[in-house]
Amino acid sequence: MKITDFLVMDTDGNEILADPHGNNLAFACPNCGAPVLAVALENQRGWDEEHSAKCRNCDTGYFLDIREQAQKLYIHPVLGSN
Ligand SMILES: [Zn+2]
Repeated sequence: MKITDFLVMDTDGNEILADPHGNNLAFACPNCGAPVLAVALENQRGWDEEHSAKCRNCDTGYFLDIREQAQKLYIHPVLGSN
C-alpha cells in the first residue's frame, strides 16, 4: 500500500517524526528514538502483531494501523514485546 505523505501518529494520536515513502515507513522508535523501518505490505514487518517491526535498540515491536481513506496511520506497540 502506498503511504507516501501519510500523517503518522502514535497510539495516542500525536504526530511523530517519520518518513513515509512508497510502501515503506521510517520512524523514530517512540520508546528510545532509534530508527525503525516498517513496510505497509501484507505479512511484511510492521503489518500486524505477528509481523511486527522491531526496534533494534530496545527490542520493542510495532505494527501499523493504516487508515487509507484518511491518509493517515497509527503506529502501535506490540504489548509485552520488550
Ligand atoms: Zn526503541
